[in-house]
Amino acid sequence: MNPLRTPFWGVEWAWLFYLLAALALAALALGLWEKISLWAQGRRAAPVASHKHPLGAILADVFLGRRIWRGGASAGLMHLMLLWGFLGLFIGTCAVAVDHYLVSFLQGKVYLWFSAGLEVCGLLLVLGLVLAVARRWLLPVPRLERRPDDTLLPLWLLAVACGGFMVEAARLAATRPPWEAWSFLGYGLSGFFPSAQAARDLFPWLWWAHAIISLGFIAWLPWSKLAHAFAAPASLYLQGQPLAVLAVAAEEGELAALGLRHLLHLDACTRCGRCVEVCPVAQAGEPFSPRDLLRRARRQARLKYSPLYRLPWLRDRRQALLERDRAADWDVAWYCTTCRACLEVCPVQAAPIEMIRKLRAGLVEQGSAVPPQLMDTLEKLHRYGNPWVAKKGAKAGWAQGRDIPDLSKSGPEVDWLYFVGCTTSIDTRAQGMARALSDVFTHCGVSFGTLGKKEPCCGDIARRLGEQGLMEEQIETTQALLNKRDLTRIICTSPHCFDTIKKVHPLFSEEGLPLQVLHYSQMLHRLWQQGRMFFDHPLPLKVTYHDPCFLARHNRLVDEPRGLLRAMPGLELVEMADHGLNSLCCGGGGGRMWHEIPGQANLAVRRLEQAAATGAELVVTACPLCLIMLEDARKTGGFEDKFAIIDLSELAARALGLAAKDGEAQASA
Ligand code: SF4
Ligand code: SF4
Repeated sequence: MNPLRTPFWGVEWAWLFYLLAALALAALALGLWEKISLWAQGRRAAPVASHKHPLGAILADVFLGRRIWRGGASAGLMHLMLLWGFLGLFIGTCAVAVDHYLVSFLQGKVYLWFSAGLEVCGLLLVLGLVLAVARRWLLPVPRLERRPDDTLLPLWLLAVACGGFMVEAARLAATRPPWEAWSFLGYGLSGFFPSAQAARDLFPWLWWAHAIISLGFIAWLPWSKLAHAFAAPASLYLQGQPLAVLAVAAEEGELAALGLRHLLHLDACTRCGRCVEVCPVAQAGEPFSPRDLLRRARRQARLKYSPLYRLPWLRDRRQALLERDRAADWDVAWYCTTCRACLEVCPVQAAPIEMIRKLRAGLVEQGSAVPPQLMDTLEKLHRYGNPWVAKKGAKAGWAQGRDIPDLSKSGPEVDWLYFVGCTTSIDTRAQGMARALSDVFTHCGVSFGTLGKKEPCCGDIARRLGEQGLMEEQIETTQALLNKRDLTRIICTSPHCFDTIKKVHPLFSEEGLPLQVLHYSQMLHRLWQQGRMFFDHPLPLKVTYHDPCFLARHNRLVDEPRGLLRAMPGLELVEMADHGLNSLCCGGGGGRMWHEIPGQANLAVRRLEQAAATGAELVVTACPLCLIMLEDARKTGGFEDKFAIIDLSELAARALGLAAKDGEAQASA
């Protein structure tokens, strides 16, 4: 007897099955068509550039869930079982269709191995689903939501998988073919049927129930969050495109004014909540959630772009929903610190930093819902070239008494432009960094100069606040000054200037020379490695290092500052609970330095609580904004007698015996 598949065994009314299947496939096609036509409009708004990420890494993310494992073994295992179980059964179903309608090949040994393979896939799917339900209901993972569809979806799929096994079990119990053990799960379950006749009688009922539940699932698939199966691979493939591609003009302050990549991100989001778990703003209890923002953005994108919502009777509802979501977005537009923690953990690279920037751009464009303090900051940036004081030329005061060439004028040739930055050159606390750094450079024989009082803002603050026009103007001003003296080698004090000059300014000078941009910690590390800087003043201190978000997460610079700290004699480095790429934001980024939000939590105090737990006497950072935020929190949070805050530049000057000159490292240290 040759083992083979018997389609529609014991089932009548096959035509009804075909009718229902056609309806389910029509719903599937409609859902996919809606998504694709929506994504296609994003393509028109912002042409897609070629991807930058290695294909191997993308495939590992898609097929092995590499990024999901980082969020915990149970999440990784669950996703792997679901993905491969589902994929295997899907391929198996396609193979059955080919066997039935095109070429018959499922017979003999092939059929037996095929049956066993499907059993394994079914088992994987069931185990994955049980784990999914357990992670929500039995041993709840706090970051996971428990909305109705979060429960319905796994239960429905479980019914599909278990129904398939029961149908198989009934068929085996009724026919008892000699190869039944190959379908080992169905075979095991077949023992539950009291007799062959009972199995034969029940079979059609089980078959139809399984068929209806399965076809219902197919129809629901593109409308459910399982649509991420289509969007997530594309979202991962398109991650990290150049910023220029993303400069789509935002309309009316809506999140819906998005490009293709953003639209894919929205559908790729599985609402896993990892972003909420790490968001410093959400964790501090402020009324903001990156996941909710994405959810609203997805809804707005559908309302705005979906052909289905253009139907006349949906127009009023569409408008009402759009207005409600817009108002909710406006309320939270200014909470985000752009720390990138969400993107770091998001398994599908969908987290919303860029969307927040676009939302802000729309609001600034309209001049509505922008907090007055931020309007004031933008006004200062526009008129005086800095966000701090209503005074032009305030940027050179810190250098008084130092003989530093002003490269905005004609003068001696130097190797490096030291780009001081607005905050470092104006804020009295941060000025210590500029003084310390210039002393260290001089001590090590670095040939450098600054742009003196003509130094413009690099455009970072305007960029974070969504003032695209002002940002472009500031970039042009900066580039004009750089081109005047052909300055292409730049050292930045602030990780924010560093990030913007490196990523948003032109890559080449007017002469076609590549711009070389370093953060000062890289420069100091280089000097130390070259033997041009030797720390000879012991510092018997226990210190902890706060990674600035724009150095660590945005630019992957975590080793250089630590290398310097470890090179300083006597210093003991201890790490905070969140450090390196997982650093906890101090709350100074994304423009929050310049305005207060109602109900604002002090994010820097939360950070200092982590620092206090290490028992360190000194908290070191490498960013003027972090320095100011942490220094303020030290005073307001009651940490004054616990530790001091210092910048790495100031500490380096001390370790070289230079710091006493200006007392910049603050007596507190
Ligand atoms: S944005 Fe990413 S991390 Fe956040 S809920 Fe969606 S998939 Fe999860
Ligand atoms: S960038 Fe930071 S603050 Fe903004 S949503 Fe992401 S985690 Fe939250």
